Amino acid sequence: MNYFGTTTFWLKKMRAANRKRPAVSGKKNLAYLLFLILISLFYVLRHDISVSREPLLDTQTAMEGYGESLRMNMVSILPDTTVISKEREQLLTAIEERIVTYLYQIPDYSYINSLKTYLRLRPELLEQFPSAVPLEKGDYFVSSSYGIRSHPISGKSKKHFGIDMAAPLGKPVYASASGIVLDIVRSKKGYGTHIIIKHRFGFRTLYGHLSKILVSEGQNVEQHELIGTVGSTGSSTGHHLHYEILKNEIQIDPMSSLDLKKTIYTHLIELKPDNDGRE
Ligand SMILES: [Zn+2]
Repeated sequence: MNYFGTTTFWLKKMRAANRKRPAVSGKKNLAYLLFLILISLFYVLRHDISVSREPLLDTQTAMEGYGESLRMNMVSILPDTTVISKEREQLLTAIEERIVTYLYQIPDYSYINSLKTYLRLRPELLEQFPSAVPLEKGDYFVSSSYGIRSHPISGKSKKHFGIDMAAPLGKPVYASASGIVLDIVRSKKGYGTHIIIKHRFGFRTLYGHLSKILVSEGQNVEQHELIGTVGSTGSSTGHHLHYEILKNEIQIDPMSSLDLKKTIYTHLIELKPDNDGRE
């Protein structure tokens, strides 16, 4: 049979099959289509889950490698500055190609270590995720850390999802990174009067037991912007700020975030004693 013969033969066969098909076949086709879509979705999701886990380790290894090369580059004593600056630019580009994905993927602050050298060259990135202290130096002391503790009111052993920063009533509370005010809650229980701010890279911060709120929902805030004042609203036994950091919806220990910005900037000031600290 030639080409036309074959086509006509199959067309006839298909038309005959269509005539024979009862009305219910439309529903069957739809069910089959839905089944195919579900199967495809399952594979896409499964693939997504597996790829989002694998590259975190890969990216971390790569970031550590680039970070170390960058550190070596910065302390290099080679006389050829063109080669050194060219290599530095290449390393910065390689880091910048991956850093957004990396910051979205990391589950906590332990992964930031590999970025410390990069952050010394690009410290402005620290404004976009929690890296500053939400209270003024000298106003507070950490009265309760993150993790399992005996609850101050019930006495039961319970996980504390943030840190408590004891401070006098009315002391200013600042946003620890730039972001958008996601939620303002006024409650007599739990966190009492509190603010939740959404930041870049899947970070959120929560400021609890406030006496006053000085921002509104949907408002954009800068890092260090005044957002409220210390109080003792909700389940609280004294004036303090309950400070929480959530990464990809999960509460993490905020302690290592408190020194992050200070560490980077202190290092920069030490490197340039004639500089006033501003980059
Ligand atoms: Zn607390």
